Amino acid sequence: MRNYFTAIIFNIIILLVMSPFAAFSEEEKPDAEKKSSPPAVVATIKPIHSLVSAVMGEIGKPELLIEGQVSEHDYTFKPSDMKKVQSADVVFFTSMDLETFLVQAIPSLNKGTLAVELAASDGVTRQAPLDSEFDGHEHGSYDPHIWLSPENAIAMVKQIKKILAMKDPKNRGIYEMNAKKYISKISASSEKITLKLSPFKNVPFISFHDAYGYFVKSYGLNQVAAVSLNPESALGAEKISDINAVIKRKHVYCVFADHSYNEDSVKKILNNPDRVKLATLDPLGGGLEKGEGAYIAILDGIANNLLSCFTDENR
Ligand SMILES: [Zn+2]
Repeated sequence: MRNYFTAIIFNIIILLVMSPFAAFSEEEKPDAEKKSSPPAVVATIKPIHSLVSAVMGEIGKPELLIEGQVSEHDYTFKPSDMKKVQSADVVFFTSMDLETFLVQAIPSLNKGTLAVELAASDGVTRQAPLDSEFDGHEHGSYDPHIWLSPENAIAMVKQIKKILAMKDPKNRGIYEMNAKKYISKISASSEKITLKLSPFKNVPFISFHDAYGYFVKSYGLNQVAAVSLNPESALGAEKISDINAVIKRKHVYCVFADHSYNEDSVKKILNNPDRVKLATLDPLGGGLEKGEGAYIAILDGIANNLLSCFTDENR
């Protein structure tokens, strides 16, 4: 009899040690406790993390997976990331076409973890890449940088609010209020950008990262070419001569590359690097502080860097 009880107790201990998730899963938590703890939320890239931070507000802070000046296209998923993702209640990401590293993680998520592909949200518009010829190497059939349209960001804020309210109904009112406030902040900032950029709608420019199509469409700009610089596939001679022909024909002065690209390698591609101005754009906000303010700072940063080239006195 004594051995029997010892065995039972031993089994219970094993259960507690071996399966902390089972032992403390949502179902077994008393209702009061379930409601008081905010959901554990993970966001993949800084702009998405920013939108989620804004909606969560004082309720809690989401975790960010990709920090610093790392390209969203060649990010390597670390074991520590896997842990973060697996212990989350909600994982917000842009799309399977962008955060391809999530493909391996999703099948091993806990039953209670919700992975939310924001590109599939109601109201998010997808558009084709500008550089269709070079598309398909790693991006899908649409340009995955959907957050660079403020309209898409607003649609994603609405989706984030909906999901969080579902996971954490007690705080629904707060999520709704935060989302509403943040949507008006995005709109107000976007209106300012529209005003700032409107005198420069016709200025031709080129970017060495096909990421700005949504921004260009939102503000009616004149991007004449986008070149995808993929480390795995060097640009062919024909493509290089095409780029230079466009620069000459359209009188392009402003050429932009991302921080994550090597300036020298971009200069090597240009026939007359002295006749153009090479500047940077940052679609991910790599150098920005993460949090609520990052999203608007990313839009402002792109607008300001475009402007400083457009208004360059040597143009
Ligand atoms: Zn990109």
